[in-house]
Amino acid sequence: MNAKEIIEKLKNTHDLSDEELLFLIEMPSLPVEDDWKKRMRGENIRFTQEEELLFGAADDVRRAVYGTDVYVRGLVEFTNHCRNNCYYCGIRRDNRHVERYRLTHDEILSCCDEGHGLGFRTFVLQGGEDPCFSDEKICQLVADIKAAHPDCAVTLSIGEKTRESYQAYFDAGADRYLLRHETADEGHYHKLHPVEMSLNNRKRCLFDLKEIGFQVGSGFMVGSPGQTAQNLLADLRFLQELSPDMIGIGPYLVHNDTPFASEQNGSMLLTLRLVAILRLLFPYALIPSTTALGTIHPRGREYGLSVGANVVMPNLSPTGVRKLYSLYENKICTGDESAQCRSCLENRVSMAGYRIVTDRGDVKR
Ligand code: SAH
Repeated sequence: MNAKEIIEKLKNTHDLSDEELLFLIEMPSLPVEDDWKKRMRGENIRFTQEEELLFGAADDVRRAVYGTDVYVRGLVEFTNHCRNNCYYCGIRRDNRHVERYRLTHDEILSCCDEGHGLGFRTFVLQGGEDPCFSDEKICQLVADIKAAHPDCAVTLSIGEKTRESYQAYFDAGADRYLLRHETADEGHYHKLHPVEMSLNNRKRCLFDLKEIGFQVGSGFMVGSPGQTAQNLLADLRFLQELSPDMIGIGPYLVHNDTPFASEQNGSMLLTLRLVAILRLLFPYALIPSTTALGTIHPRGREYGLSVGANVVMPNLSPTGVRKLYSLYENKICTGDESAQCRSCLENRVSMAGYRIVTDRGDVKR
């Protein structure tokens, strides 16, 4: 089969053989121009005919399920303390160069209040795995946010916990949980994480979350050190097994104060290609056009939306701490106020041909 036939098959059946998926993952892209000024103007991206077909098919499917609607999630990065030591992550435990912070209960609530005024109906509380935020504290936070904003969904993204903890968060009112599996290949997982972490526990968490009743999000980084096309195939197959409601991917980006300081950033084009493949494999999924995509290219998030993504997650954290939640270098939107983020995004989304809606944005499946 040629590219056109494979893309048609994917669009119509929402699945492919391993060989066909690998073909789409590995087909060549045009060289990305290295002129910095052109890159800053976002001028250098040219797609092959095959990519145009793939991206067009993904956009068709996205429009058939979600129209032009884009859901927004207000992201509150409430702590950068972390007990884990993931090799890729700038807020890993052993990074002594990052100034650590925690938002107070009241600061987190005011972020949500401000976000509600700006039209957000989902709040995502994300952080490192910070033992200072006990289950009691998390549950109190969730309950208080839900009490103040009963029309909103609360999403947690606070890492690996016991099933009992997840159950407690759910009982307190949390609706959704984001936990990327990062890579579905055991060997690759151990290249990215220290020995005390395991892919099995990550998977256990995801299946527990699903059984408890959360809307679950997973995902992976594109171009993380040592990643192969086979690894990406394993990621897609694992997602098919999990069948998550939300799938977040972004290019791996270097952080200089990590063991991966001398590695390369992931590729924007390969990330876009995987966003499109994900939309075609999972027509119903909520797929964010991520901050990492916006960081690797000035129009990365717009491209993401045009190839199948339907969610954006602007930052609601207080401006004073945004730079400190430094997962990778050059993270965008760390200087803007929340209201600026909102209006900037509205422009970007409408320039790309879509429309931000004020809605909880639950999954349509
Ligand atoms: N502690 C939480 C939140 C992690 S931060 C958890 O474990 O789920 C959210 C996501 O950022 C991670 O899942 C990871 O995929 C991504 N991330 C971390 N470091 C990154 C880097 N250097 N480049 C790109 N993405 C990164």
